Amino acid sequence: MSDALSQMASSAPYADAFELRLDLIRSAELAVLLLATPKPVIATCRPVWQGGGFAGSEERRMEILSAASLLGADYIDIELDAGKKFHTPFITRRGETGIILSHHVPAGKKFDSAAVYRRMRGVGADVMKFAFHASDAWENRIAFDFLLRARKDRCKAVAIAMGEAGEASRILYRVFGAWGTYAGTEDGKTAAPGQIRARLLKELYRADQRSPKTMIFGVVGYPVSHSKGIHVHNPLFALAGKDAVYCRFPVRNLRRFISDVGPFLRGFSVTLPHKKAMLSFARKLDPVASAIGAVNTMVRTKNGWWGTNTDAAAALDAIERVTRVSGKRMLILGAGGAARAIAYEAARRGSMVSIANRTESRARKLALELGVRFQPLRSLTPDRFDILANATPVGMAPRADQTPIAGRFLKGKTVFDAVYNPPTTRLLKETSERGGTAVPGTEMYVNQGAAQFRLYTGVAANIRAMKRILLEQS
Ligand code: NAP
Repeated sequence: MSDALSQMASSAPYADAFELRLDLIRSAELAVLLLATPKPVIATCRPVWQGGGFAGSEERRMEILSAASLLGADYIDIELDAGKKFHTPFITRRGETGIILSHHVPAGKKFDSAAVYRRMRGVGADVMKFAFHASDAWENRIAFDFLLRARKDRCKAVAIAMGEAGEASRILYRVFGAWGTYAGTEDGKTAAPGQIRARLLKELYRADQRSPKTMIFGVVGYPVSHSKGIHVHNPLFALAGKDAVYCRFPVRNLRRFISDVGPFLRGFSVTLPHKKAMLSFARKLDPVASAIGAVNTMVRTKNGWWGTNTDAAAALDAIERVTRVSGKRMLILGAGGAARAIAYEAARRGSMVSIANRTESRARKLALELGVRFQPLRSLTPDRFDILANATPVGMAPRADQTPIAGRFLKGKTVFDAVYNPPTTRLLKETSERGGTAVPGTEMYVNQGAAQFRLYTGVAANIRAMKRILLEQS
């Protein structure tokens, strides 16, 4: 009881209503709970057979919910699978209390959402609440379709894809006309996987201000839980006065995601492991993206998806803010996606590029493909380069004590580190200590994010705000 009361108090500024999970509150005193909040209350007593905590009889459950209704709960929640005998008394004698009919599909169980919708609609409750587990972000489409069907039928509905992959179904509830969504309290455990705290939903995503006109963006990759994009783009949209939202889409089945969720998106960022595979989903490609063989940004055009890459120019613009690369020798450490983008753009801007990598064969191959030099690490000497670019993850938190190259190579050099967490890596510290010029990866991150923002919205990003957000996030 004390936890429930404190959770309601701390979440009251963000919640429009509270669901009281009477099955999870020990010795629940409903009258006290109802008095504690002026917000509408939903009383739920979820049985064990529906994933809840109530192990008593169905008769007892009915008594508890009837008492809740008598005491003034604004809604009570009953389960579709509880059956007609359970539903009828509540539906026919509902009085002032609204009835939410809910259906939770257990993880791993197959289901037909259209059939669930028909069954739910037949019961005649005030609100239909449908929840299922999603393991891939394309499954958000199931929730969207459920809501669109309900909107067409002028029925109130909630549809939630549970789990991290279904985050978007919670954020975009208003876009698809849902009656509401369920959020976590500020100081309690979240009640369902993937649940987002109410404060984040309102303050970061402004989820309650969304409408069918809202433009949807996001980051597509796997995993994406570490992505800072939501913390950068959402506040930037707000600052620019754009009705747009940016979500995380953990995607494994790219084809399915593009076909099922793609039609609702205006653009999206692409991260590992999909940067290469995305090439084949773009109707048109920017020449830089096709030359690098990687897409990090997709934008909807009237002719279909246009794929581009903002990484390459972002890194070189960061370096060129301190020194021109034309005619200088640049050594790139790494032979992955970032190395490829940096090497391509540096060579295009007239730098003499060489590539060194832990796995020599990869460096050799990349150098050959881009027509630049291969540099074996064992024969590397400081006089071989003027500019160094680290395109490996070495030095990234939590292993921030590491560095990709010994300090003796850094004296007087310009050193760019693609790693942006922490903002000042050990490599950059050692560069400054040896009189070199350090260019942090945050500069690249800001440049590529700002370029994406411009492509998404047509207006320039607030760079100062972006830098402040990144510092707060690191
Ligand atoms: P990637 O494709 O996985 O390539 C990683 C490269 O680093 C490979 O060549 C790999 O060598 C090398 N490497 C990995 N661990 C190593 C270790 N312990 N010692 C030596 N070499 C190691 O990754 P990526 O997409 O190119 O990204 C590389 C870094 O750039 C990441 O830290 C990423 O966060 C950063 N990045 C930053 C931005 C930005 O905006 N600042 C943008 C993109 C990427 P092998 O070939 O031997 O495996």
